[in-house]
Amino acid sequence: MSSSGLHGHCMHIRHRLICSLTSRLPKTGETIHGHKFFIGFGGKGANQCVQAARLGAKAAMVCKVGNDSFGNNYIENLKQNHISTEFTYQTRDAATGTASIIVNNEGQNIIVIVAGANLLLNTEDLKKAAHVISRAKVMICQLEISPAASLEALTMARSSGVKTLFNPAPAIADLDPRFYTLSTVFCCNESEAEILTGHAVNDPTTAGTAALVLLERGCQVVVITLGASGCVTLSQAEPVPKHIPTEAVKAVDTTGAGDSFVGALAFYLAYYPSLSLEEMLKRSNSIAAVSVQATGTQSSYPYKKDLPLALF
Ligand code: ADP
Repeated sequence: MSSSGLHGHCMHIRHRLICSLTSRLPKTGETIHGHKFFIGFGGKGANQCVQAARLGAKAAMVCKVGNDSFGNNYIENLKQNHISTEFTYQTRDAATGTASIIVNNEGQNIIVIVAGANLLLNTEDLKKAAHVISRAKVMICQLEISPAASLEALTMARSSGVKTLFNPAPAIADLDPRFYTLSTVFCCNESEAEILTGHAVNDPTTAGTAALVLLERGCQVVVITLGASGCVTLSQAEPVPKHIPTEAVKAVDTTGAGDSFVGALAFYLAYYPSLSLEEMLKRSNSIAAVSVQATGTQSSYPYKKDLPLALF
């Protein structure tokens, strides 16, 4: 396995998840008691980076957090996952991005996201990280920082011949067309595919139709994940939709499954580039399937040592 250079580069919202569990959601002006409170690590980019690193990838995170205790803890969490934080910037100008969540007994929730420091990642920050980006094998990018910063990072990567894995999440309907042409692999879930294409996506057939629309916008490879049904893919080289099913497992918590999948796919693209796309996706399905069998997001992501040797 080659490991020169940093491979997994994540641009993302460094969220702290601040979660209260209550019997019901409070009304305006009301104060109620909850029965559980916890703070977790999140952000799609962080999750994806953590999964790639746990599979053995040499990974770095380019992003911005606040100069606050949430930001400090976040950097510590990345370090514990052996992710380089050289370009994990801290700013005094905004707080670390947060998602404040209240979940009731029925699983209904209200969520407030404050992007905070994420939106301050700028051109100067990317320039400082240019040598890491240009030497990476793969750069993963999401939409949790400003679209302009994402586009700039993707352009830097592609102009250095670095493969880009773009995860258009959270999805926006009027995505800048350059995101498609700058994506080596464009990977989204059903609801994101639906927002981006305007086509209903709920099974392999409808996913295939949406994937074709996305491919025609200029991506080299499109992958649409389908939860327990695995994923659908097609590429400029093979523009016929192919369904890659996954094994049936007893899912206990599917939160963050998509990020586990994207992190795993980045790992295979970087370290096993000679595998067929279909094989990479089969293996990414298998890793995400492990993640849904445990609770939590990052806490459910498997390490290489716990996985079958056949995946490596
Ligand atoms: P997201 O988490 O973004 O909504 P999906 O629900 O499509 O994404 O899940 C991403 C991947 O995780 C799927 O392609 C599949 O490999 C795996 N996965 C998700 N849910 C299950 C499940 N119930 N059983 C097995 N694998 C699953």
